[in-house]
Amino acid sequence: MKRVLFYKPQDIRVEETDIPIPGPGEVVIRNVVSLTCGTDVKTYKRGYRFEPPFAMGHEASGVVHAAGAGVGKFKVGDRVVAHNSAPCNHCYYCKKGLQSMCVDLIQNQLVNGAYAEYQKIPAPIVEQNMFLIPDGMSHKQAALLEPFSCAVYGTALTEFDLGDTVCVNGCGPIGLMFIRMCYLRGARVIACDMSDNRLAVARKMGALETVNVGRVEDQAKAVRELTEDGRGVDAAIEAVGLPEVWSVAINMARPGGFVLCFGGTAKGLTVPVDTTKLHYEQITIKGVFHTTPLYVNAAFELLKMGAISAEDFVQNEYPIEDIEKAILEHASGSVIKNCIAFG
Ligand SMILES: [Zn+2]
Ligand SMILES: [Zn+2]
Repeated sequence: MKRVLFYKPQDIRVEETDIPIPGPGEVVIRNVVSLTCGTDVKTYKRGYRFEPPFAMGHEASGVVHAAGAGVGKFKVGDRVVAHNSAPCNHCYYCKKGLQSMCVDLIQNQLVNGAYAEYQKIPAPIVEQNMFLIPDGMSHKQAALLEPFSCAVYGTALTEFDLGDTVCVNGCGPIGLMFIRMCYLRGARVIACDMSDNRLAVARKMGALETVNVGRVEDQAKAVRELTEDGRGVDAAIEAVGLPEVWSVAINMARPGGFVLCFGGTAKGLTVPVDTTKLHYEQITIKGVFHTTPLYVNAAFELLKMGAISAEDFVQNEYPIEDIEKAILEHASGSVIKNCIAFG
């Protein structure tokens, strides 16, 4: 079978390897589709926290090819989707209900990337975060599970009331999912991005107002001006992963407002915070990483309901040999996501 390995920035290769064999509790999936993601773009450009060479990709869905001993929930031929992680449920953080902080979080791409014809799913993921795809749901729709789970978790942690104004900074796939979820939760959404193309999709997702950040001098000010008396937004979400944008999000929140820092930045960077905003204006700044099984399950239910739909998120299809092209096109911003389709 073919799979994609990362060697060094700008050097990823499609290689042949054996089809994996499932151990007890494990399942081997024959992938039908695998989606590109901003994380893959970052990895392609600057590497990731794993030692190379490592397998790439983490958003796939397919059909059960083989099931290991003791797997009761799934059988050969089932259409399935597996999230890319599962918590241990035994460590200090898991017991505190903070499963995204799990010290032993099983991340599947460590074992086996999703840019591969076959993928072995570890037992804890099979048990906690793998689902049967219902009739009528496409493989592309199911493969949105991982990023959507993160956006659903982030939306759940963002404090706002019905009718409040929420600004989403960044309209990549995750930002667009935030826009949709905040809209469905009853917010008046303002979307910020530098691409008119993505801002048009943002409107389709429910954004009432859009700001092209390439055309304003001060993004935070431009957003505040869209609120009554220029007081600022009730909640600001950062979905880019740049410290400058974290600052912008902090500066657009109203007194008593809420800021969610979703986008991960390079290690060790710092963001200055105006002490007046934090103390006298009592803003709340919250970080969020990844997701938890509670929200993976919620995200799958929302995918079934059609809260978001693959047609808005997944554009072109490529064979696995064209992985580099698919990732670079994603990086260019001319598509929201691309899809690797397996024959
Ligand atoms: Zn992803
Ligand atoms: Zn744990």
